[in-house]
This record gives sequence, C-alpha cells and structure tokens, in this order.
Amino acid sequence: MNLWMRIAAISVTPICAAATTYAQAKPFPNGDGRQIYERLLQQIERIPIYDNHSHATFPDDSDMDAQAAPPDESSVIRLRDDNPEFVAAAKALFGYPYEDLKPAHAKWLIDKKKAAEASGGIAYWDSILDKLNIETCLANRVALAPYLNPKRFHWVFFVDSFLFPFDNQKQIAKNGDMAVYIPLQEKVLQRYMKQESVSGLPADLAGYENFVRQTLADNQKTGGVAMKFEAAYFRSLYFADPPRAAAEAVYAKYHVGGVASEQEYRTFQDYVFRVLIDQAGKLNLPVHFHSAVGIGDYFSLTDGNPLNLENVLRDPRYKNVKFVLIHGGYPHTLEMIWMTAAKNVYTDSSLMGYYVYPSELKNILKQWISLYPERMMFGSDAFPFNDAVGAEETFWLAARSARTAVAAALGELVAEGAFTEARALELARMYLHDNAAKLYEDGK
Ligand SMILES: [Zn+2]
Repeated sequence: MNLWMRIAAISVTPICAAATTYAQAKPFPNGDGRQIYERLLQQIERIPIYDNHSHATFPDDSDMDAQAAPPDESSVIRLRDDNPEFVAAAKALFGYPYEDLKPAHAKWLIDKKKAAEASGGIAYWDSILDKLNIETCLANRVALAPYLNPKRFHWVFFVDSFLFPFDNQKQIAKNGDMAVYIPLQEKVLQRYMKQESVSGLPADLAGYENFVRQTLADNQKTGGVAMKFEAAYFRSLYFADPPRAAAEAVYAKYHVGGVASEQEYRTFQDYVFRVLIDQAGKLNLPVHFHSAVGIGDYFSLTDGNPLNLENVLRDPRYKNVKFVLIHGGYPHTLEMIWMTAAKNVYTDSSLMGYYVYPSELKNILKQWISLYPERMMFGSDAFPFNDAVGAEETFWLAARSARTAVAAALGELVAEGAFTEARALELARMYLHDNAAKLYEDGK
C-alpha cells in the first residue's frame, strides 16, 4: 500500500461506517426504503393536520363555493363515481355496509348525511375532522355555515366578484362555463353590497374602491383569515398595471350601464385587482389563488398558468403580501415550487391529493421537499361530488393520500441518504401542519 492508497483507505473507512446517516446522497435508495416508509407512516398518522383549503359543506348548501360545476364537465378517472376508494372512505368514516355506490345502496349514505344536517349543531363536522386527525381547516366558502365550528373551520372568502361590476353579457356569452360562473359572481357582489349597505354602484371609482376595501376589512372582522381569487376560471392570471386614470375612465363610462369592450373591462379589472392586493397587504390578509387546472370544458391552461402571476409575486410593492398558490399549480408543479423561492409565496397540495394517485403525489412532494419544504402545505380541497360522495369522503381521500405520499417521499429521501428519519418527521410536520399554522397565526 503506497501513501496515497493509505490516505484513501483512512478517509473512506469512517464514511462507509456511517453510510445511512451521513453519506453523500445517492440516486438509488438503500434496500430498506419500505421499512423506513412503514416507520415514518406510523408517526405521520399521529401528526394533526392543518388543512389549507377545503369546502367543508353539506351538498345542498349553495354557500359552499362562489361557482358551480358547468354541465358538460369531464372528470378525471379517480373522481368518477365508480372509484372503489369512495366505498373505502364511506366504510372507514361511517361503517358503510355495501361494496358499491349503486343508487339503492348509496341511499344509506345520503340518509345518514341528511340526518346529520337536520340535527344541526357543530358536532358532525368536528367529528369528521377528528376521525381524520385534522385539527384546523380553512373553509373556502361564500359565507361561513352555522354547522361549522369557527374554532376549527376558518373562513376564506371570495373576491373575484369585485372584478365584475358592469354589464357582463359579453363575458356570459363566451361559453357554457362562463354562462354558469359569471351570474354567480354577480350574486356574490350583490351580497357584498347588501352587507355594506351600498345600494347601487358608487358614483365614482373612489367610492367603489372604498366599498372594496371596507368589505375586505369587514370580512376579516367577522372571521375571514384569507381572501381567494378563482380568477383563473374567468380570465388570464396575468394582471397588467394600468394607471388609475384609465380605470377611472372605464368606471365613469360603465357603472350606470353599457357594455364595456374586452380591453376596457380588462383595464378596470387589472386596476381593481391591485386595489385588492394592496388592501390585503394592509390587513395582513393572505391572498389565495386557484392556480392549477380547473373544472369545465373551457378552462384555459394557458391563462391559468401560475407563471402569469410572476410580475405580481415578484413586485417589491407587494413583498409584505402573503400569496398562497393553492393546488400546487398542477400540472406546473416544478414551476410552482420555484415561485415559492420568494419568502412571501406559498403553495399547497390541495386538489392534487385526489386528482392523482399517491404514487404520483409522492413524486411531486419529493420534488418540493427537496427544494423549499418551508413553503409547502397540505390542503384537501374536500368538496361534495354528489349527494352520496361528499366532502367527508374527499377529506378522507385527500388526507389518506397525502399521509401515505409524504411518508413515501420522505422514506425514499432517507433511504437515498438525503437526511435522517428524525429530520424527515420534522419535514412531514411542516407540510401537514406547522407551515400553515405559522402563516395564519403570524401577526395575530
Ligand atoms: Zn377548492
């Protein structure tokens, strides 16, 4: 053995001895990945979840969302009525006695939920959270429901309606999706006007801006913890920065009637959007964006691409605004995690948790954990798909998928030598609970 061989032997030996804990990360896992997964999952089951996005609701409650599913919607395979996982969910949550959801059997489930709704009180939805070890849950709704415990369900209210105060006949005529969505936005605006005792649109833009700002402040006072844009369903997520005078001219021209041109309406919306963002910063109210594929037959992947928001997210004027890009930007999940490189930008895995199977969710979470683990949160996007498969079953599906997927992602990273199991559990806690708790409790 010459000198160089001896130096090599000395320096290599101790590293090999500690291979699992301290070695350089490898592209292939050690053989014990499956056992690490099982160990992590056991611990991960015990982490109480902070759910960043849900629509906890009974199916006949029209306040569940500010929009509705358009008539021709085509659903991804995992969300179709024949997914056997929905039967598993109903069995786990309610002891559902059948093996399918055929109408005669599904009636058992529908009756059970109708009885829960009729009994009133907050115990039912609390019990659903308890069964899934969900501690706190954001409820994205038009208004909070009396059957949701405000200590556990925190309100995220909608703000898109402020972008549609004029005659919307051109928007409605665009396609079948918009024909469903826009009248609902008009209704929400009417509701806010009633809430603020505003009869008719204010006489000038300054009056409209006051109405917008005041509504946000009042919604926060009545429990709102964040505001939400579903704008990707209605228009491009690219918001230009027009001068106030341009928006003022459009408002003066159309607030009493008349149909604005596409460009005029866009100018007005881009300006009011910035009024909303500015006020969110002043109120320390996080701003949620739908930033992923969407339902309907006319959803534009180009307009809905979250990269369109980059000029806003990277604008130093808004560095104190907390932006939450929900649904992980799916399918643009890699771009999404890079958007969160800015300290005021966050994302969550809502919607993805039931759109894709856990094996694919695992790959997405692994990529995110490997880059900015302090920016990612769990979200269920629990939502009632029909009278039988409700928000209850989708809570279950999303929570089960996320717990197993994050255990698998972390198990692989530990087996590849990226970090220890103890660190993996810290990262799981950040994703499932701590990052969201910190975000919403900061400054309160
Ligand atoms: Zn949602």
